[in-house]
Amino acid sequence: MNKQAAISDLVTTVPKSTDRRIALHVSRDGERALRSGHPWLFENSIERQSHAGKPGDLAVAFDQKRRFLAIGLYDPTSPLRMRVLQHGDPASIDHAWWFAKLSAAAQRRVPLLDGRTTGYRLVHGENDDLPGLVIDRYDQTLVMKLYTVAWLPHLAELLPALQRVQPAARLVLRLSRTLQKAPEHLYGLADGMVVAGPPLAGALIFLENGLRFEADPLHGQKTGFFLDQRENRAHVEGLAAGKRVLNVFAYNGGFSLYAARGGARQVTSLDSSRPALAAAERNFALNQHLPMVAATEQQLLAGDAFPLLAQLAAEGQRFDLVIIDPPAFAKQQSEIERALGAYARLTQLGLGVLAPNGTLVLASCSSRVSTEAFVANAMGTAARKGRPLRIFAQTTHALDHPIGFPEGAYLKCLFATA
Ligand code: SAH
Repeated sequence: MNKQAAISDLVTTVPKSTDRRIALHVSRDGERALRSGHPWLFENSIERQSHAGKPGDLAVAFDQKRRFLAIGLYDPTSPLRMRVLQHGDPASIDHAWWFAKLSAAAQRRVPLLDGRTTGYRLVHGENDDLPGLVIDRYDQTLVMKLYTVAWLPHLAELLPALQRVQPAARLVLRLSRTLQKAPEHLYGLADGMVVAGPPLAGALIFLENGLRFEADPLHGQKTGFFLDQRENRAHVEGLAAGKRVLNVFAYNGGFSLYAARGGARQVTSLDSSRPALAAAERNFALNQHLPMVAATEQQLLAGDAFPLLAQLAAEGQRFDLVIIDPPAFAKQQSEIERALGAYARLTQLGLGVLAPNGTLVLASCSSRVSTEAFVANAMGTAARKGRPLRIFAQTTHALDHPIGFPEGAYLKCLFATA
């Protein structure tokens, strides 16, 4: 935000957290986790605490011998009771501390700032030492998403630090579903509020590797765009020349646009959401100045991917490049088996429409499914179908979605011929 964009009074009048820090005495398991650098302390790892606290109070975790372990944000409304700001050494959590963390996060993104990309993740929560906080940048707008009420008392100090580190014209506040259900902790702040700068006037336009995209920070998924697939999309661009491409779970056409610019003959975007496909169409329109995009035949297919893929296969439709980037299937341990079943089915269905020696791109954003399980599942399924995969690239996270702790690793993508 630039200096002129005043921060809303609603932010500055949220009651500050008290100076009195809560002492948490943690179990051996909790100690082990914190010593290994893990950013979460769960309710059941706390054996004693000095006093009851409010959301956003600072808490200090001590081991069994009363040695300092970590300082973090206290959230009595969640079983995830403390989110660690700093391990190992005590710290004053003040403007200077926020400034240092935001600056470090911004510094990590510098390699992205070549002028061709103006949409990226500036802060990736725990992975950037700012647990439960995500900040995405879309050109001149920052979209901040909170996952714990513990952030609210700190915004009045954090936002001026953000203004210094990352000047922008506007800041939009997004709240996780859990927060939206707790209005008693929000002090009048609400999901979608513009807390600095001018009101939103429609979708935001930004650049990703020189392609123009729109993001709707209020109604879109995530903060409006899947910024985490940038590098995989660029990889697809390099594979698309002359190809007939099918982009399954296309959302607003990210992979489709890259395939088009890469010289694809034809691109079909398939998604169950008509608004997403309408956005994909607008994104194609935004890039008609690029000859390769203008020359690509574009098709949209609305519907459930599972029956539609089977139908396309039965019709004898074949594609040279098939991209399958479904939504997360497993957010909990208990869903892993079902998720692997869905990935297996999608692998079969994808191969069913893949031309001989075609290229299959398979992604998973299910944090609970490990890379090993995901790859073995895809390879096993393909082999059983008589179309063994030859994997030639396997990727994880883009630079602006760093992995700072085990649970931070969610994205895996494999590129194979079959
Ligand atoms: N590949 C996209 C992101 C995909 S997000 C990108 O690069 O930006 C997942 C998408 O899957 C959403 O757009 C959602 O509408 C769509 N979706 C979810 N379930 C579906 C289904 N059964 N069939 C087709 N699309 C589905």
